[in-house]
Amino acid sequence: MRTAEKNILISSFVSTVSNGFERFELHPALIRGIRGIGFENPWRIQQETIPAGRAGRDVLGLAQTGTGKTAAFALPLLDRLLKVRRPAPRALVLAPTRELANQIAAEIRTLAKFTRLKTLTVYGGVSTRNQINSLRRHPEIIVGCPGRVLDLLGQRVLHLGYVETLVLDEADHMFDMGFLPDIRKILAAMPERRQNLLFSATMPREIRRLADDLLTDPHVIELAGTAPVATVDHGLYMVGEGRKRVLLEHLLTGDDCDSAIVFTRTKYRARRLANQLSRDGHRAVGLQGSMSQAQRDRAMRGFRARRFNILVATDIAARGIDVSGVSHVINFDVPNTPEAYIHRIGRTGRAEREGIACTFVTGIDRGWVQATERMIGAPIPRRKVVGFEPDVAERPRRPRRPYGHNARGMRPGGGSPNRGRNSNSSGRRRRSYRKRIA
Ligand code: AMP
Repeated sequence: MRTAEKNILISSFVSTVSNGFERFELHPALIRGIRGIGFENPWRIQQETIPAGRAGRDVLGLAQTGTGKTAAFALPLLDRLLKVRRPAPRALVLAPTRELANQIAAEIRTLAKFTRLKTLTVYGGVSTRNQINSLRRHPEIIVGCPGRVLDLLGQRVLHLGYVETLVLDEADHMFDMGFLPDIRKILAAMPERRQNLLFSATMPREIRRLADDLLTDPHVIELAGTAPVATVDHGLYMVGEGRKRVLLEHLLTGDDCDSAIVFTRTKYRARRLANQLSRDGHRAVGLQGSMSQAQRDRAMRGFRARRFNILVATDIAARGIDVSGVSHVINFDVPNTPEAYIHRIGRTGRAEREGIACTFVTGIDRGWVQATERMIGAPIPRRKVVGFEPDVAERPRRPRRPYGHNARGMRPGGGSPNRGRNSNSSGRRRRSYRKRIA
């Protein structure tokens, strides 16, 4: 049989297999894309967002990572673009990090594989030349980070006058990264009449204000805002700072550990730990903000392709990044905020698979534990490994409240909006904390 005939046979067979997405009456090319990617049934955020998005409504999605929100906004967006031909770019998706922008664009391209729609990613850290050349091919969808989008607008090589749909993904993370002023400038370059979809795992006051300004009568979908992913078995390990490295080795060499993301507090600690693990014979790679874009891409590609099974990262990798089959998230250092904890542990237990999250807690992290348990509304189980109890000497002598954190459980220097409110004491605490971990 000739290949063309075989393909016709295969595609007519595939189109008879029923798929839970058919009920949305999406364009047939998208149904083929959905089959190609292997989705059988829509997840909850998709069940709610797709009909509202197709009907042209604004959407506010309060959803943690791993819930399927990319397809939830991409499918109605693509479906609307396929209905009529209009000048491009017609859709703009803003995301906080380059890794997330790449991931969103990859999923959109897979879903749109059987259409002629083009998607372009634009972000900083790489030359603008290729991005400007690609813009000349009139991609319908731009996925980008706010800084570079603004830069291209300023250079007058990107025009957003025809944008029909705007998606803000991980809006709370964009706020944390200080992108809100850039986003507001980008909004001013777009037509006022457009569809807006805003997704955020948490709803700080600033994002609520942005949502109020941006969204008109939105369809609101809230998926258990601050609950840890149900498929993640998470626990705290009380350990002295000096024993963290040995405990990490113990967990990484356990039978159940296939691949792990290890989070550290600083870029320096991520780089140093990745080097130490590699020297000790692990297939480890670092991912932190002082690496070049090419190095970051290489690290992510290597981790996705399983050339490395340990990614040692700062919070740059805490959100949005979707790598299937990460069995463990290990918080070598506790995150800056309780919210960041939810994001970090959401890197495992993805796509309804089970995952394990281990957090190393030293004596000075007790304030963070209290704040995080308060936010989750439940205690996080304590796990014990004999020989890894905290050093008595490491506990603060007096039970001072924040133990190196402010009342929200944020570490000094952690980029919290509260930073500076009690700068004297936090400055002092920061120095003593640094001394402690030096
Ligand atoms: P997201 O929250 O968009 O990062 O999606 C998390 C992961 O779930 C990604 O790997 C998606 O490809 C996958 N996914 C999304 N929707 C579905 C679905 N309906 N069925 C199976 N996998 C899905």
